[in-house]
Amino acid sequence: MKPRDRLRIAMQKSGRLTEPALDLLNRCGLTFRQSRDKLFCFGEGEPVDLLLVRDDDIPGLIAQGVCELGIVGRNVLNEFKGGAGNGAAALTEWRSLGFGRCRLSVAVPQEMDYNEPKDLAGLRIATSYPGLLGIWLREQGVDASVITLAGSVEIAPKLGTADVICDLVQSGGTLVANQLRETDVLLQSEAVLAGPETLPTDERGDMVELLLKRLDGVIQVRE
Ligand code: ATP
Ligand code: ZN
Repeated sequence: MKPRDRLRIAMQKSGRLTEPALDLLNRCGLTFRQSRDKLFCFGEGEPVDLLLVRDDDIPGLIAQGVCELGIVGRNVLNEFKGGAGNGAAALTEWRSLGFGRCRLSVAVPQEMDYNEPKDLAGLRIATSYPGLLGIWLREQGVDASVITLAGSVEIAPKLGTADVICDLVQSGGTLVANQLRETDVLLQSEAVLAGPETLPTDERGDMVELLLKRLDGVIQVRE
């Protein structure tokens, strides 16, 4: 297969990170031809194209070499890095981008008597981040059962399918609405520019360096 000479960046097709990611790339001087509901956007000026995908697919696409960079939450990147079977994928955070801020936290029913992580022993914890939760539980020396859910984690205690949860929190409003109380922060997250630890040594690598330089300018101006 002929190697690509254009750089590819994966970003979320539709969600919280979509608008700010596109806005940031625009401010780095990148513009794209196709409409945003297509999978692929062709870069107009620089040789940089976009892949629009579910955020969960972004680390895998980088690991497979389908794209060189991705804009994704640190939570998704670290879950991929910590997950089983991904050991070969050496992905790294090239830059943190200052948007999409949230945290991955344990939350318990408001009335529950909770003082420390040891109180989770023997409980069922619902989460979409089994890798990160598993690492934290091991660090804490706590033996609990992890129940992996794709979504609507916050209603699991009310449904009786879990005792407590480990989920993303931004304002805390969703927790309050579900009579939950945040107890432990596992990870502070924001959108990051992710990529392989070693970049291609061709034009794509040069383009990454140019993009990083422009990003640093844009991020400094904003701060
Ligand atoms: P997709 O269809 O791409 O899988 P999604 O539902 O997984 O979408 P979003 O809810 O759009 O994703 O969230 C994308 C990212 O935004 C999260 O992975 C996280 O990094 C960040 N984020 C910031 N605040 C929150 C929040 N309150 N809840 C969930 N994610 C948040
Ligand atoms: Zn997702």
